[in-house]
Amino acid sequence: MRERVLPVAGAGELLIEVKACGVCRTDLHVVDGELAHPKLPIVPGHEVVGRVAAIGAGVGGFSLGERVGVPWLGATCGSCPYCREGAENLCDAPVFTGYTRDGGYATHTVADARYCFALGEHGDDAEIAPWLCAGLIGWRSYRMAGEGKTLGLYGFGAAAHILAQVASWQGRRVFAFTRRGDIAAQDFARSLGAVWAGASEDTPPEPLDAAIIFAPVGALVPAALKAVKKGGRVVCGGIHMSDIPSFPYALLWEERHVMSVANLTRADAREFLEIAPKAGVTCEVTRYPLARANEALSDLRDGRLQGAAVLIL
Ligand SMILES: [Zn+2]
Ligand SMILES: [Zn+2]
Repeated sequence: MRERVLPVAGAGELLIEVKACGVCRTDLHVVDGELAHPKLPIVPGHEVVGRVAAIGAGVGGFSLGERVGVPWLGATCGSCPYCREGAENLCDAPVFTGYTRDGGYATHTVADARYCFALGEHGDDAEIAPWLCAGLIGWRSYRMAGEGKTLGLYGFGAAAHILAQVASWQGRRVFAFTRRGDIAAQDFARSLGAVWAGASEDTPPEPLDAAIIFAPVGALVPAALKAVKKGGRVVCGGIHMSDIPSFPYALLWEERHVMSVANLTRADAREFLEIAPKAGVTCEVTRYPLARANEALSDLRDGRLQGAAVLIL
């Protein structure tokens, strides 16, 4: 823990008093040095729920005390070819909360107001925090997985536990894949609507239309390709993954797809923030005071918690 001077909201920015900040697997990749070129020192955290404490010059649409969320996408350039084509998630000069600018493992944070979202007053701060990344990037992954009725989720953590609820609400059938022998995670998945839960190496009882991989384990790519039907999609939802082992072309043949999801767009966020309350998404959270952030990271790393870890202020 370190005392710092209170940051100041510059032009276009909000100063936010943090109320809750979710702990994402990407935070582990940041603190473990697995992502290139972080701002150092860095305050991690990109699932920020807080209250507007000061409003910088030129900012409209927010009021003091309003509850807002700050996601992973901290800012984009607005002028590169990707930004101009509506793919700001692929911006050539992006800013990422808790990676290239300070995030929410703090009492206060400053964010670019254009990338903050009003969250309204419905719902508990800690239970909404995981929406800001597990929900938003999970939603983008879910959209990339297509419209199929059978969906596999590999790695049943924060994102999968949100998507299982959305998918069940939409009438899709969810198949949850966990570490072998993780009975607690498999029971948890079934409690959230999964029709089947088993080990990642298992063959599901029927072929899948699509699978989303949230665990950072490259060996799951060929495993998921085995589980999807002809034309099926395998979406890699994480920012970092161990190397993918070589596999026979036959696993990819018949128009199976492997794709990755990078970041989010503000349009993804608006869609998810509208659909999540309708779907009745509730997050199972384990709360930690800010001073125990390292313990939260360790518990996430070792798979000692169900759902999402959230720091509370
Ligand atoms: Zn750009
Ligand atoms: Zn994240």
